[in-house]
Parts: sequence; structure tokens; C-alpha cells
Amino acid sequence: MQRMIQEIQADARRTATYTGVERIGEPVIAALRKTRREQFVLPRNRSLAYANHPLPIGHGQTISQPFIVAVMTEALAIAPHHRVLEIGTGSGYQAAVLSHLASEVYSIEIVSELADASAERLAELGYDNVHVLAGDGWLGWPEHAPFDGVIVTAVGPEVPPALIDQLAVDGRLVMPLGEHDGYQELVIYHKRTGEMQRLFPVRFVPLTGGP
Ligand code: SAH
Repeated sequence: MQRMIQEIQADARRTATYTGVERIGEPVIAALRKTRREQFVLPRNRSLAYANHPLPIGHGQTISQPFIVAVMTEALAIAPHHRVLEIGTGSGYQAAVLSHLASEVYSIEIVSELADASAERLAELGYDNVHVLAGDGWLGWPEHAPFDGVIVTAVGPEVPPALIDQLAVDGRLVMPLGEHDGYQELVIYHKRTGEMQRLFPVRFVPLTGGP
């Protein structure tokens, strides 16, 4: 775990010229320390849980690299009273990290087997401020809007319009934009100004569903 945190901070320094972030802040580091990644990976990969790499989680999907989880979480600038929407629950790891920082986390997963497995896992582990929905994230979760932060953990060609609608005026949305088999970059969209801040190139699985 300690080594994973050190590698995350080293990656943060390496990418600081693009992100403007020299190091991941203490609240996000504390949330990463509280979240036991080995509880979210496949049993056969437990020994690799704290390596700074993405890992397969079944159904052709992956749990993101810890550095990417850290940067995306930092980019959301979460305050304790915030309500956050995640698209792409996957293993539930990112949602678990967010749950230590925000008041409520809403997470949507399109592969119903993953949604069910993660909802069960998160409940068993006592993450009771995380709410999982099996469905298409392109539609967001209007019943619980507005969200102070939205995080999309799969790559799409554009920001799904419903997610912008469901973002609070001072909210931020973090997501990889681009082609699923081509160039992708992580962006932060600021709703109040409409500004799209570009961070650095990334590689994510595709956002399916939608139009
Ligand atoms: N955040 C996850 C990693 C997600 S991988 C974790 O911490 O483990 C991306 C996930 O997005 C996959 O599980 C994929 O099935 C899901 N996904 C893809 N398109 C989606 C959509 N339109 N709505 C909801 N989930 C989607």
C-alpha cells in the first residue's frame, strides 16, 4: 500500500506540467489508504492489488490504475457534503474511494452482472453511502440530481448531455474523451464556465450504450 502511494505521488510529479497538480492531496491519499484494493480485484490477482496497474475484473472490463483513480478523484475537488455520480461502477473500487470523501455516491453500471456483484460487495464491506444502479450511464440518474461531481470511468466521444444537465452549477465532471481504439485524454469540464480543461492522454475501456 505504502509503495502504491509513493508511485502515485511520483506519477503526479511526472505529469504535473500537464495537470498543474504536483501531488495528490492528503484527503484523497487518506481515502486510498482506507480502501483495500484487494477486496475489489479477482481472487487470483490479489497479490497484484497494490501494484500501480489496471487489472481485469471480468466481462472484458478493468479496474483502473491507482494513479488514474487518484488523479480523477483529486480533479473532482470533493467536499464532505458533496453528492457524486459515477458512470462505470466496474468492481466498485472507485466508488469506494469516493465514498470516504463525499456524503453520497451514486454509481451506474451497464453490465448487470457487474452492477449486482459490486452492489453486493460494497454492502458486505459496509459502504452504505454508495448506491449502485444497473443501467445506461448516458441517461444519468435524474432522481438524485443535481450532483456536485460526476466521474465517468469509460471513454466516450463526447460528454453525455444528460450528465451536464444533472451537474450542479458549481460542479465538475471528469472523464476520458476520445475514440475507444484511438487517442483519448482525461478532461475536467467546469459547468459554471463551460471550460474544458485537458489533462493528459489515457487509455480506458469504451462507454457503451447511449445514442
Ligand atoms: N470504475 C471502475 C472501473 C470501470 S471500467 C472500477 O473502479 O473498478 C468501466 C466500466 O464502465 C465497465 O464496468 C463498463 O461495463 C462500464 N460502462 C461502459 N459503458 C457504460 C454505460 N453507458 N453506463 C454505465 N456503465 C458503463
